[in-house]
Amino acid sequence: MSFKVTVLPSQHEFTVDDGQSVLDAALAAGIVLPYSCRNGACSTCKGKVVSGEYEAGGAPAQIISQEERDQGYTLFCQARPLSDMTIEAHEVRMASDIQIRKMPSRVMSLDKLADDIMVVKLQLPASDPFRYYPGQYLDFILKDGRHRSYSMATPPNESNLVELHIRHTPGGAFTDHVFGTAATQMKVREILRVEAPLGSFFLRESDRPAIFLASGTGFAPIKAMIEHMAASGDRRPVRLYWGGRRPADLYMDALARGWESSLSDFKYVPVVSEATPEDNWRGRGGFVHRAVMEDIPDLSGHQVYACGAPIMVDNARRDFIDVCGLPESEFYADAFTTAADAA
Ligand SMILES: Cc1cc2nc3c(=O)[nH]c(=O)nc-3n(C[C@H](O)[C@H](O)[C@H](O)COP(=O)(O)OP(=O)(O)OC[C@H]3O[C@@H](n4cnc5c(N)ncnc54)[C@H](O)[C@@H]3O)c2cc1C
Repeated sequence: MSFKVTVLPSQHEFTVDDGQSVLDAALAAGIVLPYSCRNGACSTCKGKVVSGEYEAGGAPAQIISQEERDQGYTLFCQARPLSDMTIEAHEVRMASDIQIRKMPSRVMSLDKLADDIMVVKLQLPASDPFRYYPGQYLDFILKDGRHRSYSMATPPNESNLVELHIRHTPGGAFTDHVFGTAATQMKVREILRVEAPLGSFFLRESDRPAIFLASGTGFAPIKAMIEHMAASGDRRPVRLYWGGRRPADLYMDALARGWESSLSDFKYVPVVSEATPEDNWRGRGGFVHRAVMEDIPDLSGHQVYACGAPIMVDNARRDFIDVCGLPESEFYADAFTTAADAA
């Protein structure tokens, strides 16, 4: 059985088929609601149901509290209608001709930049240009049907070649394969199925100075955005804060330092939270979002793009808005949640 969903304030309507989530049906109809992980582990797609019955699905209390559920809030990636529904959501304006597609991809190169960081280059089919907004991600579809998400680290290009930065999670279903032993390790020329492009984390047009905040491989989508800004002549002031536990976590530090001379109004602040004496680290320490707050205590005129560990993204959102006066609507983020975060 299918049901109709009406979105307020746009009055756009779409149909949800049996078993589909509200979010998946909206995306299939070309209506983009804000979203990121699609598995109930982040809160990006949280929104209000004005009327109608639905099955809310599971999500941990830190993502959506009982109080919020009682007020009619739900995660649209989990909610499945049991009647026609009306929902409130701020639709994301994206080009309607960029379609989410499932396609094969071929591994072209594997470069280990640190013990736990692999840069993977993927070739997508040459038949159609692979279009996406810098900042978006793709999903690998594993043989058992599970999905694993990775952000594109380069802007779209004519050769349909995509760069990914993959951190090893020991014991992880996918990354053990990427970093495995000789027999099991991912190989150049291997074919993997992907779904892309996904997510609503991308650069918005704005005159506001941009602050990019990354932890670990959260640098990947930010690299794509900064390279896109450089290529398109976007001259807004940019500050990049990149945090890691150890200096080696800033695996493309030299590239980021180089942007200071190649981009017109760009400053890079590397931040290391757990340097050891042998690291001989002389730069900034502590939490990376705190470094932003120390340098720019008033964020009311800025725009922030944050990406990486969910705890960093949550703390930055809370402190930037509550303490530094950043408007809520100027904080854009992708949290690198895992399937286990949704359990
Ligand atoms: C929108 C989005 C974009 C992403 N982009 C990137 C990216 O560009 N680069 C990147 O490296 N990752 C990215 N991730 C995370 C990535 O999708 C995987 O979750 C991660 O690589 C683990 O995959 P796995 O299959 O190896 O581990 P899993 O099989 O999912 O996990 C195995 C075990 O490890 C634990 N675990 C997993 N991750 C962590 C962690 N970070 N810290 C502690 N324990 C953990 C899990 O709880 C689980 O018990 C992104 C996630 C999202 C939602």
